[in-house]
Amino acid sequence: MSKIDYAQRLSRVRTALSSDGVDALFVTPGSDLRYLTGYDALPLERLTCLAITSAATARMLVPRLELPAAEHHELDRFGIEVIAWDETDDPIALLNKVTGPIKSAAVNDAMWAQKALGIQESFAAHLKPAGRLLSDIRAVKDDAEIAAIAAAGAAIDEVHQNMSLWLRPGRTEREVARDIAEAILASGHQRVDFVIVASGPNGASPHHDSSDRVIGIGEPVVVDIGGTMPSGYCSDCTRMYVCGEPPAEFVTHFETLKAAQVYAVATAAVGMSGAQADSLARDILEANGLGEYFVHRTGHGLGLDTHEEPYIVASNHEPLVVGNVFSIEPGFYIPGKFGARIEDIVALTTDGLVNFNNTSHELTILNS
Ligand code: ZN
Ligand code: ZN
Ligand code: ZN
Repeated sequence: MSKIDYAQRLSRVRTALSSDGVDALFVTPGSDLRYLTGYDALPLERLTCLAITSAATARMLVPRLELPAAEHHELDRFGIEVIAWDETDDPIALLNKVTGPIKSAAVNDAMWAQKALGIQESFAAHLKPAGRLLSDIRAVKDDAEIAAIAAAGAAIDEVHQNMSLWLRPGRTEREVARDIAEAILASGHQRVDFVIVASGPNGASPHHDSSDRVIGIGEPVVVDIGGTMPSGYCSDCTRMYVCGEPPAEFVTHFETLKAAQVYAVATAAVGMSGAQADSLARDILEANGLGEYFVHRTGHGLGLDTHEEPYIVASNHEPLVVGNVFSIEPGFYIPGKFGARIEDIVALTTDGLVNFNNTSHELTILNS
């Protein structure tokens, strides 16, 4: 069984509830529930819901048929009482009964509206999304989480390291992506979360997936890949490739991008705001005429979700703290021509910034 001290995480939630003046937190399946209990319940129409109040025991309602799966996690060890409801029960009425009267509650941000509105109606309580109540806790990773994310980074690095096995001109993006997906699993991930193979003009769309476009000689290719490890923690890393000789204009812009990304990784630090960290690479791209082509934030936090707090974006004025893990992924996207991005996942630790993605940041030239 897991060595994570979920009781400690629940106690942090209770502290946050009391300082926010909120009576209860309700959490349905998803990454918040996994963070608080380790229970990887499927999000289904039947209600599974953890209720945390100031009381010493938290309660989790589960459908009767999910009880064995929930019991497998031995949640009673962490002060969570699991209560099964039967097919003909009204689970929200039961949730209300076991929770007792409350005036205000927070719900996990990704709770289905069907459930959130049902809870709101039944409790007649003021409901709000948990937002920072949970994300401030989740954004500060402990040593075990940092180690899990480091392992995810090493696994995705292994895939990038072997790109020449799959990425060749004459193959379609989708063919290459299929091979990469297999390699992501072979490297130790439990699940493939995304495989972006964007060649030539497709690279100008930051979240391009993979298509039937045939990769040509001399075309820059954006490869942004990630998966989830058995630990539940994610990887996410972007590198640039080209088969044969790249266009001179691209090379000039790429050198600027690389300098900007490397500078941002070398300079990001505890105490800087998300906005300040965002400006590190952006200022360099702007000074070199690429500002208008850098159309997204510099990065996002990463943990049990690929995208979570803290966001490295001009609107985030909160300081970065020890334990934050996030991406640094500046790019440029020139419509109709090409695009590029370089992405690392980094952690802020008491010993400074640690980079989990350590394959070459150069434009890797593969044989054509
Ligand atoms: Zn993304
Ligand atoms: Zn990313
Ligand atoms: Zn990415």
